[in-house]
Amino acid sequence: MKSGITSKSFPFDVAIIGAGIVGLATGLEFCTRFPGISLAIIDKEETVAAHQTSHNSGVIHSGIYYKPGSLKARLCVEGADEMVRFCRQYGIPLEICGKVIVATKEEEIPRLEELYRRGKQNGLAGLRIISPEEIQELEPHAAGIRGIHIPSTGIVDYGKVAGKFADLIVNQGGQVFLLHEVVGLKSFDGQTIIETTQGEITAKLVINCAGLQSDKISRLANAKIDLQIIPFRGEYYDLVSSKRDCLKSLIYPVPDPRFPFLGVHFTRRIGGGIEAGPNAVLAFKREGYLKRSFDGRDVMELATFPGFWLMAAKYWQTSLGEYYRSWSKAAFVHALQRLMPDISANDLVPGGSGVRAQALDTHGKLIDDFYFSLTARIVHVCNVPSPAATASIAIGRYIVNTVVDRFDLSQK
Ligand SMILES: Cc1cc2nc3c(=O)[nH]c(=O)nc-3n(C[C@H](O)[C@H](O)[C@H](O)COP(=O)(O)OP(=O)(O)OC[C@H]3O[C@@H](n4cnc5c(N)ncnc54)[C@H](O)[C@@H]3O)c2cc1C
Repeated sequence: MKSGITSKSFPFDVAIIGAGIVGLATGLEFCTRFPGISLAIIDKEETVAAHQTSHNSGVIHSGIYYKPGSLKARLCVEGADEMVRFCRQYGIPLEICGKVIVATKEEEIPRLEELYRRGKQNGLAGLRIISPEEIQELEPHAAGIRGIHIPSTGIVDYGKVAGKFADLIVNQGGQVFLLHEVVGLKSFDGQTIIETTQGEITAKLVINCAGLQSDKISRLANAKIDLQIIPFRGEYYDLVSSKRDCLKSLIYPVPDPRFPFLGVHFTRRIGGGIEAGPNAVLAFKREGYLKRSFDGRDVMELATFPGFWLMAAKYWQTSLGEYYRSWSKAAFVHALQRLMPDISANDLVPGGSGVRAQALDTHGKLIDDFYFSLTARIVHVCNVPSPAATASIAIGRYIVNTVVDRFDLSQK
């Protein structure tokens, strides 16, 4: 990977801002479809996949949650299969361990049944509604009055997947510029000059895959996209080693459909260990992984975005609950005990965290589906929250399909 200034003077065919899993999957799709294309991937950090891609639950989602017909549903189902094939082809460890979603209260049953219907419509194989006895057979420590078993869910390390994407891009002649923070964008004469902290990079087509900073990049390009990225931190606890055999697969609650997050759950990690979480607290810094992380500019941007206060009015109760659970281990444990009653505070130690990039519109609506915007020479990837790691290969193909006719890359 490069951090020098060689090869930056000629215009690249394509430059991608952001070496997360979405930017890299898109880059790999360009290189594979158009051999000989000149491609630059630009990132401000010293390694690829430094943010969301390496701070997530590592789940290969099956696609049960998403509205049939939505991009999330289609790209997740396609992408999950492709992710499994990719990992097998390149020897990246993964495990198809399956998952159970459990309803623990009567009022959750209609929502559980709706999930089942969605899963069926999205074409998931092997989906089953299960009784409390069957829940116990699959997960002896789980509680639940009814559940869904999804055998196709898997676990993987997305940081490793992204690293392999980057290696393949470089092997095919692409260049990865690390420690290059994008600070300006100017388009003219069919080209865009990308100003970085280490000089200019020119490209005919730019893809903005900057994750938590993607709205800022859109603004640098003067794109009229009325969205703001809201950072939601997700905090995890780790289960102590003596408890590691209490989970065979993954245990999830029935999610609250008003909120785009899945609720705290138990996840096995591909590298060993079990995580419990993540919660979803509004973060006061976009890349702030600690409770005390704070950035005055990020907070000002939130506070002056019209949709923010509309969102706050809608979700203030849920948000307060999430803050309480963030600061009170007892409250976090209480939420987990609904899924696994015999877990206690002594079984959990503080774990890692991640920050989700979630787009909000000016009406205070959290954008549910994946969302992309195409301006003259720049594609802005505006909203790719979970399951975008699962769906990354399919998202990359979707982006390339979107631009291929318009920019005549077929000539390469
Ligand atoms: C807590 C948590 C749990 C999750 N669990 C799952 C899961 O189990 N399964 C799943 O499928 N998905 C999950 N996700 C979602 C998934 O991780 C993300 O959707 C996905 O990683 C998004 O990838 P990305 O490439 O868009 O963003 P990122 O990985 O954040 O990459 C964006 C890149 O842009 C770079 N960048 C930003 N600004 C600039 C700039 N100015 N100049 C240059 N570079 C810049 C950053 O350094 C970064 O490397 C989870 C996310 C979180 C946070």
